[in-house]
Amino acid sequence: MSLDFEELRRRRVKALIMEGILRSESVIRAMLRVPREEFVPPHLKKYAYVDSPLSIGYGQTISAPHMVAMMCEYLELDVGHKVLEVGTGSGYHAAVVAEIVAPSDAPKEKWGHVYTMEIVPELVRFATDNLRRTGYLDRITIIHGDGSKGYAEKAPFDRILVTAAAPDIPKPLVDQLKPGGVMVIPVGSLHFFQELFVVKKDEKGRVSLSSKGGVAFVPLVGEYGYSL
Ligand code: SAM
Repeated sequence: MSLDFEELRRRRVKALIMEGILRSESVIRAMLRVPREEFVPPHLKKYAYVDSPLSIGYGQTISAPHMVAMMCEYLELDVGHKVLEVGTGSGYHAAVVAEIVAPSDAPKEKWGHVYTMEIVPELVRFATDNLRRTGYLDRITIIHGDGSKGYAEKAPFDRILVTAAAPDIPKPLVDQLKPGGVMVIPVGSLHFFQELFVVKKDEKGRVSLSSKGGVAFVPLVGEYGYSL
């Protein structure tokens, strides 16, 4: 039996709206547009719209739809933003962000751009294939490397999204955030409790943190991450 992925996607988005997780029109629109089934391994496609993380191999996961929605809402993304994502994984979250900062139906001169970093080379290939097939490589640059150090070549960024849990907030990421910028990052212990933080830098460069509660992410590795 073939599944109606568009219908399943609509239902998942509706549920996230009812739960109060999805609130803004731009995030809702992006999640309705990006086909999550194209970012999971073929044997897991039937679970693409279950609200759960799924394995993408190499001990890594594609985050649950509610987590992608929540992080996008906290980021307060806008058309034209330059965004750094640390932890490309499948490329799904990068595609949702790209659909907000560079909407498919907006003029290209208005488009922002997503730089996304992944440390596992096989996942760089997986995400590249997924993003090429779904048509997002014109708005997303995938970089193979240690994103815990950020990406100085294209800094500063309007927004930074970290999709793996760090032991502390990496200083280079704070430094690479523009004044007026927002970063969302899970921070905490390796196997137990982690907290999702929203980090804001005001126009004078002052940094403030707010906790959005407990989460469970795979670890950020690398120079400012965990050494496993
Ligand atoms: N955003 C992803 C998606 O939409 O599929 C989910 C990401 S997964 C929860 C976290 C990813 O962070 C993994 O693919 C992992 O290999 C990657 N990662 C961990 N440490 C990293 C680092 N220092 N630099 C770049 N990527 C890293």
